[in-house]
Amino acid sequence: MGQIVTLDQNMVNMIAAGEVIERPASVVKELVENSIDGGATKITVSVEDGGRKLISVADNGCGIDADDLAVAFESHTTSKIKTSLDLQNISTLGFRGEALASIASVAQVKAVSRTKDSVNGNCIEIDCGNKGSVKPYSADYGTTIEVRDIFYKLPARRKFLKTANTEMSHIIEQFTRIALANSNLDISLIANGRKLHQLSSQNGLRHRIGELFSSEFGENLIETESSEKGLHIFALLGRPDAARTNNNFQYIFLNGRFIRDKFISHAIKEAYRGIIEPNRFPVIFLFIQLPHEDYDVNVHPTKIEVRFYNANLVHSQILSCLREKLLETNFQTRAKLPTEVNSSSVAGDMSLEKPKRPDTHYRSQEIADAMTEFFRKHKPIAPGIGQNVLGEKTTHYTVLGTLRDRKFLQIQDSFIVAEADDGFVIIDQHALHERIMYEDLRRRISAGKLESQKLLIPESFELTDTQADALETNAELIEKLGVEVVPFGPKTMAIQAFPTLLARAAPVDFIRDLIDLLDRKDIIGNREELLDEILKMAACKAAIKAGQKLNDGEIEQLLADRESTECASHCPHGRPTTIKFSLSELEKQFKRT
Ligand code: ADP
Ligand code: MG
Repeated sequence: MGQIVTLDQNMVNMIAAGEVIERPASVVKELVENSIDGGATKITVSVEDGGRKLISVADNGCGIDADDLAVAFESHTTSKIKTSLDLQNISTLGFRGEALASIASVAQVKAVSRTKDSVNGNCIEIDCGNKGSVKPYSADYGTTIEVRDIFYKLPARRKFLKTANTEMSHIIEQFTRIALANSNLDISLIANGRKLHQLSSQNGLRHRIGELFSSEFGENLIETESSEKGLHIFALLGRPDAARTNNNFQYIFLNGRFIRDKFISHAIKEAYRGIIEPNRFPVIFLFIQLPHEDYDVNVHPTKIEVRFYNANLVHSQILSCLREKLLETNFQTRAKLPTEVNSSSVAGDMSLEKPKRPDTHYRSQEIADAMTEFFRKHKPIAPGIGQNVLGEKTTHYTVLGTLRDRKFLQIQDSFIVAEADDGFVIIDQHALHERIMYEDLRRRISAGKLESQKLLIPESFELTDTQADALETNAELIEKLGVEVVPFGPKTMAIQAFPTLLARAAPVDFIRDLIDLLDRKDIIGNREELLDEILKMAACKAAIKAGQKLNDGEIEQLLADRESTECASHCPHGRPTTIKFSLSELEKQFKRT
């Protein structure tokens, strides 16, 4: 006898449920999406025990009539598409007709619904696929679906559920995505009888972001918009100093649907290139609108991935829209002064910030130390006490006077303190000069080749055969950089000419790093990226170092170049060059306000 049997419908549903219903949060997502598709303007989500005990979604949408109520929980039943043609033009969040059947096959479900033209409501109960009959039930317009004890007949899957707290955090994440995508919706989230969120359609998106995260989070975002070739983009961009260690704060929506997409992620990363460190992820809320026929949502069971028919257009338009805005914005890192309550909470910071990485911390510590040292040496003094017993002016007084006139000062031979419009800035001289050099190098390289100068005495260096090969293969690039190397003996070459602009760099040191870069397998295939890495390396080597004394003319030049250089707020590696202390923050610290 044959071994193959047809599975009964409930088994089919249970298996399908494995795809769409992973955990309580998936139920929340499916039910709320149904409410939105049903035209609801007000939705209330209540859960108990992280959704393990109860998930209830109530809406004021179009409702489901008695006949449909019995059918809605069958598998592959939907009111959203009818023909294969509809499949190419999906404007609703759902269309697979699987969610309700899947949910009802793995939990106890009670659905109550009433349509606008019905005098009463109806109710149906289903217990893990065992369907009761549809009965009249007193109800308001709209639909309420309660899902209890998810997976209770499937111990293996029930065991897979995490603690109530973890499941709750997944539910909050789903709720957040939907609430962000639909800021025109009144939507609430209640957990164990306590209201976590009550979001009003009246307050707008930025306010909603503030409510879902923190008010500062909402206020610090930069807005940009573009519309071209049927593609509309609206984005709220996080400042570079708000960037994260992962992409959890990248909310991307396509026609109201939260998606993850590698092209879009890449465009975002590119847009922030050189403004944040390469291993950080910017905060972004990106809303894309595109005709439904220009992409396919039917590629993933939970529809979190889509397929764009013209992915290049999506990529390039997002990149240029974001990049333009980021380049024209002046992102001075704001000083993070301690507050009274908690010395680790910082001004301009977002409340959800994770602990600072040690190197950033080290850097700010360095600056803080330099500041302390400066103020220790040059204590501000009250007017009238600036004279000693002999009636002579003290040095303190003179120094402050000079600072006033010049409006800048180098401290620890590493940082420049300069007066700004509404406060002052501390500049990391190396980081800023690095950016200036980098932009200059890029400009010159794109115009032709770097100007070079013959070395009085050629500098020789040893290299392996592979390294010699790497130099030979990239001869054109090396010439473009204004470097001239010639064979000088067995396994030895000599540098004869070197770019003028890199006068501060040691030629052999530069060539060694250049060869290392040419040898790096991960970037070798991508010429543009390779050149960029080389220019960053060159800029770093040729820039003024920390610990280097600068004269007034040099500082003035640096400050002037800062004005005319793109992205001067960050070094090419994405670290800040400038920290701003605003007058208002200083006044707050000195208890003047
Ligand atoms: P899909 O959303 O893919 O169509 P579902 O199984 O999620 O499939 O829902 C089946 C059908 O039940 C929907 O097509 C819709 O007609 C109806 N329905 C479900 N929830 C609601 C609701 N909250 N309001 C109105 N109709 C609903
Ligand atoms: Mg659905």
